[in-house]
Amino acid sequence: MPELPDVEGYRRLVAAHFVGLTVRRVEVLDAGVIRNSNARQFRKTVRGRTFCRVDRRGKWLVAHMDGPALVWHFGMTGSLVVVPRAAALDRYDRFILAGDEDELRYRDMRKLGGVWLAGGGAAIDEIIGPQGPDAWTVSLGDFAGRLRARRGAIKPALMDQRVIAGLGNMLSDEVLWSAGVRPARPAAALDSGEVERLHRALRDVLRRSRRAGRIPRTPSWLSSQRDQEQPICPRCHGQLERGTLAGRTALSCPNCQR
Ligand SMILES: [Zn+2]
Repeated sequence: MPELPDVEGYRRLVAAHFVGLTVRRVEVLDAGVIRNSNARQFRKTVRGRTFCRVDRRGKWLVAHMDGPALVWHFGMTGSLVVVPRAAALDRYDRFILAGDEDELRYRDMRKLGGVWLAGGGAAIDEIIGPQGPDAWTVSLGDFAGRLRARRGAIKPALMDQRVIAGLGNMLSDEVLWSAGVRPARPAAALDSGEVERLHRALRDVLRRSRRAGRIPRTPSWLSSQRDQEQPICPRCHGQLERGTLAGRTALSCPNCQR
């Protein structure tokens, strides 16, 4: 699932290859990912427009054009790729925005993500909905206050975009494991030392994964064990635990996390 580092990677990709460029051709291969418009309207609105600026807001990407903005959410399997104009189609390419030389393609296997057209700032806010501060920039004081005000376990709190924006299942597990905090602990009951450790782990995990443009699967990361049948803790080498919390899987170490 694309989380903050992945979306940041897409932001940099679009900024590097498309800002300043005009969309010459729009090809909609599957209108199911065009969320608040239809294929014809989308083509008409986007063709001939120039990309001005690209922002990330939590797990959302906002590409401002000279006119409308494109607002992306990547769902479970969405991604953006830049390929030369003649490149073969991928079976999951859903639409194509072609510049003079390169094409920006939205690829999505499960089609839970998609793109919205927004006329201006208020429309963008409405599409994205209420969000907390970005996980990358939230201050320790703000973070602590938000956790104190929260009912329920810490993991769903970290994943709730209204608390902080940008984390999904994988990063929340990584941050909790890195800080040594069990995912089921009540958020409001964490002491100040634990909240500080969590905030530091958040910064550290995001810094390293932003640099990589995605969540690394290197052996020292919990994420390297996600798809293993018998996941082993990279720190203590004990067996990791797979639980369910608020309907999502949670991977944690019963030995390292308290
Ligand atoms: Zn461990």
